[in-house]
Amino acid sequence: MSKRHIVFVASEAAPLAKTGGLADVVGSLPLALRALGHEVTVVLPYHRRQLGATGIVPGTARWIVPLWIGGGVRTVPLHDIVVGGQRFILVEQDDLFDRDGLYGPPGGAYEDNLLRYALFTRAAIEAAALLENPVDLFHCHDWQAALLPLLLKTQYQHHASVAGASTVFTIHNLAYQGIFPATQIAQVGLPPESFHPEGYEFYGQINCMKAGIMMADAITTVSPSYAEEILTPAYGWHLEGFLARHRHKLSGIVNGLDTVAWNPADDPALPAHFQAGQVAGKARCKQGLQQELALAASARTPVLAMISRLAEQKGLDLLLPCVPEWVQRGHQLVFLGSGEPHYEAALRELAERHRGQVHFFDGFDEALARRVYAGSDIFLMPSRFEPCGLVPIYAMRYGTLPLVRRVGDEAVRYCGGQFEIGLTCGRRELLD
Ligand code: ADP
Repeated sequence: MSKRHIVFVASEAAPLAKTGGLADVVGSLPLALRALGHEVTVVLPYHRRQLGATGIVPGTARWIVPLWIGGGVRTVPLHDIVVGGQRFILVEQDDLFDRDGLYGPPGGAYEDNLLRYALFTRAAIEAAALLENPVDLFHCHDWQAALLPLLLKTQYQHHASVAGASTVFTIHNLAYQGIFPATQIAQVGLPPESFHPEGYEFYGQINCMKAGIMMADAITTVSPSYAEEILTPAYGWHLEGFLARHRHKLSGIVNGLDTVAWNPADDPALPAHFQAGQVAGKARCKQGLQQELALAASARTPVLAMISRLAEQKGLDLLLPCVPEWVQRGHQLVFLGSGEPHYEAALRELAERHRGQVHFFDGFDEALARRVYAGSDIFLMPSRFEPCGLVPIYAMRYGTLPLVRRVGDEAVRYCGGQFEIGLTCGRRELLD
């Protein structure tokens, strides 16, 4: 296999900025590709606040590019940094990316998201053109990077070092498509000639996801079953027909587990370590979690946990009716997540009512999440649909049984009724 120069373009990547599984994939796949001998550069927005919290300091910009967008010229600094051996180019534009949320306030979206990601994808192409080695492939992730193949093929053919690059577009979640009023086409400089039903037009509006599907050379999604599901009305979000016309370039590749980044045998976030065959440390992790979250200390009390974006997809409303019975049986419950305010309110109320038995952490905390994976007994993931949930994969890696709804490629069935024990994607071998 010849060595390629691959440029990842995405809105988030661990450990720099993360809201969900996208960041895990964009954080770990480049390392796996580099191990195969490829050169990989990751382009991300410069999320100043989130980066500040990690302690990573990007220093001064390496390049500054002018971009004509939004009715004027913007000056865009590009930072060139290495984190954990991986090269990142950060697109700085503080009025667009220096915000509390990556995509919007809790449960919402920023009004100027089209401008933010049109600028970002344009800057990513400009950045790639400045790299020492010509780019062979752009790997674009989700709607935030979906305009890149369209812009590349319509407006950047004069940039010799990128014009010949192929494009892969990966759909991590088809539910989020990036839909905006058509009045913004000229403002962000999209090619008007592609605004039609076989292009990026969607019921009279702009649909960024469609731009990626239409123009990318290949489309992948995060599991083989999801590649099939999105061709059906139940999971296609009105794009099933459009996707079917592009199915010749669609395939599903199941997300993997980064066994180095997620390893209970040496995870620095844990109070004790363990692995298959040596599980004494797991009991100490449970004890530590109960203490940390002010739950009653009890080795024999089952701890059920859920770590999730609090969005309708994740099925919290399916699970809440089960809580009274679990509480009555004396189980302990831990919820870690943020998102739609009504879910946050319901969990806050539960935690207040059952202090010492139900704990709700309202926010995002990577280290706490790891202690919850390690310290609980059963992991809850009642998703209504799941492209390829990483949560149950991490749970199993940390010795915790996932209790999931039967969506995706179910692998292990254990109990009947509404919930089943298993995986939301077919990676049974990870159980070992
Ligand atoms: P999705 O990408 O749909 O949000 P996944 O299951 O694929 O769902 O991935 C979710 C990722 O985000 C996992 O790494 C999970 O541990 C992490 N995560 C979700 N919510 C939180 C939170 N509140 N704090 C810390 N990590 C979280």
